[in-house]
Amino acid sequence: MGYHEACGAIKTPYVAKCPQHKQRAVRFPGTASAAELVFYCPECPPGTFINRGFGASCDCALGGALSFTVHRSGNVFKPRGISMINPPRREILIRIEQAGGGERALEWMLEGMVGRRLTESAAAQNPASIRKLLEDRGFDDATISAMISAMPDTSESGKSTLALDPELRADAERQAKQVALATFESRITIADLLARSTSEMLRDQYRAEYPRALRRAGIERIELIDKFPVLTAQFGYTRGKPNPGDSRLRTYREKTGEYIVYGDLAQTEALLVKLDPVMVLSWLLRKGFALPNASGNREAAETILAAMGPADRPNDLTEAVIELVHSISHAFIKRAAVYAGIERSALSEVVLPTAFSFFVYAAARGDFVLGGLQALFESDLHLLLDGMVDDEHRCALDPGCEDTGGACAVCLHLGEPSCRMFNTRLSRKALAGGLGYFDVTTSAS
Ligand SMILES: [Zn+2]
Ligand SMILES: [Zn+2]
Ligand SMILES: [Zn+2]
Ligand SMILES: [Zn+2]
Repeated sequence: MGYHEACGAIKTPYVAKCPQHKQRAVRFPGTASAAELVFYCPECPPGTFINRGFGASCDCALGGALSFTVHRSGNVFKPRGISMINPPRREILIRIEQAGGGERALEWMLEGMVGRRLTESAAAQNPASIRKLLEDRGFDDATISAMISAMPDTSESGKSTLALDPELRADAERQAKQVALATFESRITIADLLARSTSEMLRDQYRAEYPRALRRAGIERIELIDKFPVLTAQFGYTRGKPNPGDSRLRTYREKTGEYIVYGDLAQTEALLVKLDPVMVLSWLLRKGFALPNASGNREAAETILAAMGPADRPNDLTEAVIELVHSISHAFIKRAAVYAGIERSALSEVVLPTAFSFFVYAAARGDFVLGGLQALFESDLHLLLDGMVDDEHRCALDPGCEDTGGACAVCLHLGEPSCRMFNTRLSRKALAGGLGYFDVTTSAS
């Protein structure tokens, strides 16, 4: 079929018959290119032809040639959409905002996600979030100001306000809020597994094997979210080259011109994987970044965030952290697919670099949740982590792959439905090979 990249029109290919003999025939070129098809008339003298390819132009105002290919090609129609963590009920979003929103969420992440959910952690003590809380409760301005000025000064009570690039702070608060939203209604920790298990064998595994494997992999925590709220929305499609920027996005519109987004809100299962900030800092130091040393998770996380540039203006440190979290996410997904018995393309990621975290979630199929990630979480997590650390980290395509960044379809790439970052910012060098994360974590434990 023919398509026009610029306007999105599709046309049935058409080739005229020989005007004299009313016949036409085709010679296949032995390639997949429609432009090399030769149409000729069997009655006319050899060497003459009617048409090479379908060669037609679009009759739209933009003009230009149609491209021809088989109808099932991804170039003809590529759906464009997003998935995002979306609370199933608006009330949850309101409760998080009233509790202090992104600022409270960031504080909660830095403190190690204490409590079952964000709203059970210690409330933020700073005047701005208290003002917001009081406003939401309906107090008037004068009363709020009086109450805030009567508050004891907490600025000397240890927790200094973290000095961050304002845009980076916005990134970090937004990502922390995503974790807070996702974990608000369901959250199962390894401590929960231990508490509810009656099998001595499993209890030993949760007490000894899991913590050991997490430590060796430099992972602070893995948690199961069995009602992970994800919104999948389709807003349009492209024809032609699949890479962003190479083709024109056709959005879905009403006849009135209004945009339409087709959405599907579902709850599925997910794992939250959060790297150990102390290990991330050690790794960054090993790579040669000039950062102060820090003790403890909170101090290490703050040290890294204070040196990071925002996603829109990334510095080398931002790039290194994104590449690390993203590469571990892919290495994890490849193995999780095997252990969870889920097709790899049915697992997707949400990468949250400023939270040193990522979510792996299973594609939602209606109301049905397969339970593969839960089974993995309950019984094979240590095997997966040990494998991720100890497996061969070379690629079958080395040295070629190594020389071009250390990530290719054979080793670290995932299919397009799984990866939201188009397989960029990935490298096996972030994982192993001397300056890799696992080189640091295994020598520390
Ligand atoms: Zn057109
Ligand atoms: Zn003819
Ligand atoms: Zn490779
Ligand atoms: Zn990815």
